[in-house]
Amino acid sequence: MPSRSSAGSEPGTLFVVATPIGNLDDASPRALATLNAVALIAAEDTRHTRALLARWDIDTDTISLHEHNEQARIPGLLERLRSGEDLALVSDAGTPLLADPGYRLVRAVVAAGLPVRPVPGPCALVAALSASGLPTDRFLFAGFLPAKSGSRKAALVELRATLSTLVFYETPHRIAAALADAAEVLGGDREAWVGRELTKRFETHYSGSLGELAERFAAGDEEERGEFVLIIGGAPAAAAATALDADAVLEALLVELPASKAAKVAAKLLDRPRQALFQRCLELTSKH
Ligand code: SAM
Repeated sequence: MPSRSSAGSEPGTLFVVATPIGNLDDASPRALATLNAVALIAAEDTRHTRALLARWDIDTDTISLHEHNEQARIPGLLERLRSGEDLALVSDAGTPLLADPGYRLVRAVVAAGLPVRPVPGPCALVAALSASGLPTDRFLFAGFLPAKSGSRKAALVELRATLSTLVFYETPHRIAAALADAAEVLGGDREAWVGRELTKRFETHYSGSLGELAERFAAGDEEERGEFVLIIGGAPAAAAATALDADAVLEALLVELPASKAAKVAAKLLDRPRQALFQRCLELTSKH
């Protein structure tokens, strides 16, 4: 059990604590005990976290840790851990670091050789996968797709040959556009699933082909308020074969050209982003 400060010279532990994604009953007894016991909670938004803590009668001190101050906070938090204090890291919802702040802090704590312990719990992408009925044996979590359609399509092109199930977080004002672009780039036949407001009062699931869901959302038939997870089936075998073809093209070009030129030519031939092909060139050349 964590404590406000450990006696002696033992360093404290950073507990990475998952909090509910909507339903407060999903807070685990261990998460609550940890948040109650630590010396300080680093929170994405202290006002949001303090409101949650008040619901559970927890009065532990909080400090903000978000995208803009995370780096600056690290030395002070490391110092407190070294002095023996246990700390917790939380985000506004779900598991910290998953499309949320905390990566730089956890990385710094690991690099400093100090203990980190997860206190696992709610996570929208895992909740969505577990209820979607799409294959879960291999999946790729791609976070939020870019806001602008051109960049979003480019990101989807990069994922076109991925065999794994694809998981995205989406905002209410972009879900329809994301479905439309995904149907265009990945093909409307793929299986798709959208989870809205998971664990909350108005939880809704939509499943069908990507094309069908794109049409339903484009027609305004579906509720677009709330929080969304979008899941899309992986590439069919034919698209995987295209990925192999890309390797064959790159291998042939790399015999004559440096990686940057090979990637440039292949990007034109294959209509795929140059940067991804350049990365693949580096992987292929490192194998030889
Ligand atoms: N760290 C969180 C987690 O573990 O899931 C996610 C934080 S991310 C900034 C917030 C996004 O997660 C939302 O925009 C939405 O895409 C997804 N999300 C969070 N809660 C959700 C819920 N209850 N239902 C559906 N999606 C949710």
